[in-house]
Amino acid sequence: MKTLDQLLQERLQELESASLLRNLREIDSPQGTSLNINGSCVLNFSSNDYLGLANHPHVKSAALAAIKQYGTGSGASRLISGSLAPHHQLEESLAIFKRTEAALTFSSGYATALGTISALVGPEDTVVVDRLVHASVLDAVRLSRARLRTFEHNSLEDLETELSKTRTSGRSGNILIVTESIFSMDGDSAPLTRIVELKQKHKAWLMVDEAHAIGVRGSQGRGLVQELGLGNAVEIQMGTLGKALGAAGGYICGSKSLINYLINKARSFIFTTAPSPAAAAAAKAAIDLCQSEEGEASRKKLWQNIDSFKAALNFASISQLPPESAIIPIHIGDERVATRVANQLREAGIFIPAIRFPTVARGTARLRVTLSAGHTPEQLNLLCSQLQAILQSLTPSDQVNP
Ligand SMILES: *Cc1c(COP(=O)(O)O)cnc(C)c1O
Repeated sequence: MKTLDQLLQERLQELESASLLRNLREIDSPQGTSLNINGSCVLNFSSNDYLGLANHPHVKSAALAAIKQYGTGSGASRLISGSLAPHHQLEESLAIFKRTEAALTFSSGYATALGTISALVGPEDTVVVDRLVHASVLDAVRLSRARLRTFEHNSLEDLETELSKTRTSGRSGNILIVTESIFSMDGDSAPLTRIVELKQKHKAWLMVDEAHAIGVRGSQGRGLVQELGLGNAVEIQMGTLGKALGAAGGYICGSKSLINYLINKARSFIFTTAPSPAAAAAAKAAIDLCQSEEGEASRKKLWQNIDSFKAALNFASISQLPPESAIIPIHIGDERVATRVANQLREAGIFIPAIRFPTVARGTARLRVTLSAGHTPEQLNLLCSQLQAILQSLTPSDQVNP
């Protein structure tokens, strides 16, 4: 018999030879358009801090004030003695922001999906998800023991086929459709208006994960569901407080009954210590900022950056698609080539890690460029020229299809 360590060494070796080994990089600076890695400063195009709120003075001072007033730890779960004023203030702000009856926050977006989906569906139910939906949703469905069906990415036809099949199969359970409004690795959006039509026709429920839309899309950054006027048709609106909002945690916005039910049944909400008061206060300050004139100006700046970067990216096919988010994938395909390109960019002082399996499917490795309101035109130009030079230097055997 091999020891545990021997076995793990072998498995790590396999990952390494497939260019799939991952390592942590220690960053010695706040999130921002540049990062300090191992003593050198690199331009950062990898963060989901789209509005630059993760290191914003107002957000930081709100966190500090909460620490002064409430300390660092919440001491217990929300249902014991950990439900502090900052959590309630955050949830009130979220419900007003998202224009829903109520909101509930969790310690992360991942915990939000896990607790919510497993509370709402069980073995008799069916969950129909877009093939590219986030890992947290897939793990949640597995945990719920509901039947999992996937539809081709953004294919209404395939979704309708799955819905009809489930309805005519004689199964008695409910159907929950789950999709993202902006997809995390491709940056494209879901056809939500049409999905709502299908959901109504087939009497299914709909959950939309707005992780990459909140703060970015919709008036004052309320997300794509709000932008499309679908707030009343989406029962479960999910998102994270850790990306554009620059804090930490996840949320569900919806009806009072939904929130009261989750308080009673979502195990990732119940059996965990409440998030720190600092995180809750930071998220609330970020939501306020999002709706301020300053937030409006940052969003405008972000969209200008997205537009100008896509226009300058005329050597990549992605530039032909309309801009939908701050995520711009440069498709490479082969994991080894993607890793090499990422290393070359790094040598040129630009940080964009290669996104590989299992985050995306095998053979679809990519550079996932994320833009922030804080990037300057000079920084965008530099990225464009370096990308172009590196991509053009690849040989045909690299089979790149950017
Ligand atoms: C990041 C992400 C999550 C998880 O949110 P965290 O707060 O980071 O745990 C969920 N869904 C999607 C689509 C995401 O991109």
